[in-house]
Amino acid sequence: MSARTPILPPATVGMLGGGQLGRYAVIAARTMGYRTMVLEPDPHAPAGRVADEHLVAAYDDEDALRRLGDECDVITTEFENPPAAALDFLDRRTLVAPSPRAVSIAQDRVKEKAFLVDAGLPVGPYAVVDSADADPAISYPAILKTARLGYDGKGQRGVADASEMRAAWRLMGSVPCVLEQALDLQAEVSVVAARTSDGGFNAYPVAENTHVDGILDLTVVPAHLSRRLTDRAVGLALGVADALDYVGVLAVEFFVVDGDLLVNEIAPRPHNSGHWTLDVAQTSQFEQQIRAVCGLPLGDVAMTRKGAAMVNLLGDLWNDGEPAWAASLEGGRTALHLYGKTAPRPGRKMGHLTAWDDHREAAELRAEAARERLSRPG
Ligand code: ATP
Ligand code: MG
Repeated sequence: MSARTPILPPATVGMLGGGQLGRYAVIAARTMGYRTMVLEPDPHAPAGRVADEHLVAAYDDEDALRRLGDECDVITTEFENPPAAALDFLDRRTLVAPSPRAVSIAQDRVKEKAFLVDAGLPVGPYAVVDSADADPAISYPAILKTARLGYDGKGQRGVADASEMRAAWRLMGSVPCVLEQALDLQAEVSVVAARTSDGGFNAYPVAENTHVDGILDLTVVPAHLSRRLTDRAVGLALGVADALDYVGVLAVEFFVVDGDLLVNEIAPRPHNSGHWTLDVAQTSQFEQQIRAVCGLPLGDVAMTRKGAAMVNLLGDLWNDGEPAWAASLEGGRTALHLYGKTAPRPGRKMGHLTAWDDHREAAELRAEAARERLSRPG
C-alpha cells in the first residue's frame, strides 16, 4: 500500500527486526507519542525491550505477521535481510515503508548493481558470478561478495586471480555472487538521507567512514571532501532515492576513487554512519525515519556542533573484562550508547561512542581517546 494522509500519534508504528537500529527508531516513535510493535524472534533483542509490544516469532511466522499487519498503521524495517515474502505479506495488509521493492533491490547485490547501472549511477567494475566455470573480464585482485545475506564484511573474500575466485565461489556455497575489482580507495563516505512519499528529500552532512576488517570503525562528520564532491554525493543519493521511489531514511555508501565517487551500496534504513545524529544533529536519523514513513514534514538535518565523530564498540572490547565506562566519559563532549546486548562476541556491534567539538579533527581525537580509556585497567 502507499501513503496518503499523515499517520499521526497515537497510531501504531511496526518494526520488522529487533536490532539497535530498530531500538532507536522505536524510542523516537514513542517519544513522539506513537504506539510501537516489534516482530523479532530473539526475546532479548535491543528493540523488543523498548517497544510497547514485542511479538517474539520468526520473521516468516504468518500469525505474527498477520497481527503486525493488522495492528500497525505503518511498518518499517531495520536490518539487512528482512524476507521479501514477509514484506509482501505485510504490504497487502498495511502501509510498508520503504517499499518491498526498494528493500529487495538493496538486499541483493546483483539486483542492486543492475539497478544502479540502469539508473545511470556510477559503480566500479564488476561482474556477476553464478557458475563454477565463470571467467569474467575483470582486473584482479578482486573481491567476491555473495549477492545476498552479507553484512559487516561477512560473505566476502579477496581473490588474486580467476582460479582462486572459482575456488572461493565454491567455498562460499556456489551461490550467486558479485565480483568487484579491488579499488584503490582514497576515502569512503556516506550520505544518510530521507525521502517522503511526495518526493520531499533532505540529507545530513556527508560522513567519512573508516572500516577495520570490513566493519565500520570510525565516522567523522563533515567528511573531508571538496565542495564539488560533497554536492555530487548528495545529488547521487537523491538520484538513488528518486529512482527507488523511496520512502524513509536510506544511506548510500560511496568509494572515493581517482577524485570521483562510485556508489558502493545502498542501505534501505538508518545507518551506522548516521549514529552521530543522535547527539549532534537537530533531528536524529531515527526520528527522521519515523517522520518520513508517517508522512510528516522532515526534520532539520543541521549539525548542532561543527564536528562530530563516532566510534563503534565491538564485543572484542570485553576480552579483558567489563570496559571502563565512566573513564570513557571523562573530559565531556562525549556520549555513550550501549544497545543492551548480553553476549559480547568478537566483531559484534555492542554500542558506540559519539564525541563533538569545534572541528572535525578535534571530535575525532576526542572519540578515539574516549574509546581508548575504556581499556584502562580499572
Ligand atoms: P556493511 O554492512 O558494513 O556496509 P558489507 O558487508 O555490506 O558492509 P561492503 O560495504 O560491500 O560490505 O564492503 C565492506 C568494506 O570492504 C567497504 O566499506 C570497503 O572498506 C571494503 N570494500 C568493499 N568492496 C571493495 C572494493 N571493490 N574495493 C576496495 N575495497 C572494498
Ligand atoms: Mg557496506
